[in-house]
Amino acid sequence: MASKPKTLKPVRPNAGVGAQYERELLDLIDEMERSLRYWLRARYRKVESRITQDASPAASLQMLMNKLTARWRLRFNDLAKYLAPDFVSGAAQHAEGSFKRDLAAKTGFTIQFKPTEGVQDAMRACVEENVLLIKSIGEHHLSEVNQMVMRSVAHGGDLGELTEGLQQRFGITRRRAANIARDQNAKVTSAINKQRQIETGLFEAEWVHSAGGKHPRASHVEAGRKKLRFDVREGALIDGERIWPGQKPNCRCSSRVILRGFNDK
Ligand SMILES: [Zn+2]
Repeated sequence: MASKPKTLKPVRPNAGVGAQYERELLDLIDEMERSLRYWLRARYRKVESRITQDASPAASLQMLMNKLTARWRLRFNDLAKYLAPDFVSGAAQHAEGSFKRDLAAKTGFTIQFKPTEGVQDAMRACVEENVLLIKSIGEHHLSEVNQMVMRSVAHGGDLGELTEGLQQRFGITRRRAANIARDQNAKVTSAINKQRQIETGLFEAEWVHSAGGKHPRASHVEAGRKKLRFDVREGALIDGERIWPGQKPNCRCSSRVILRGFNDK
């Protein structure tokens, strides 16, 4: 009987890196929420009594929303500029450290990772994606709030109703940000890990399903159960396409590198 091949333990996203990312996103969302609520309540109160007869309350609220949108768009752009690269380099450092330590422990080889072009490309792509995502959090929230305010004015809704609507929307945005932080942490970790494995010449891996998600994909559970082998340069063939662990939305799967030639140690 063939001996079980030696493997590296799966490189998992670092919880601290994800939590830090989430915290910074939520801090800015909370600040935006306080500002929107303050300004909208103040203005809405003034126009509330006239809402049904006058066309100008809508114009006045729209002007306020334009100003608030411009201000908060800028704040999210500023956050994206430093948070995206910070987060990506934190996740990358963790992924590399974890891979390096386990490889040294199991093979005796210590690798000094250099910032290769492949890793830099992967990191650049991750930074770009996260910049877009961070901006989209503010953009999406502001556009939803804008619509809500205009609907409320058009229907002569009261301040209480509007405040409740804003609160709900705020909850949705917070959950979306938390989800982005968790999902991107998995994706960046997976992308950097894949690149380092390829550069180290360790191409063979087996799929590891992670039970953390609420809605696991049946095909990923199956791939984990079978320990589906794949070449990290090509990805694993699942549901008719080549994919990598952590690539699909909310996928928390990872992989184990197979170490050939180290079994008899
Ligand atoms: Zn998965």
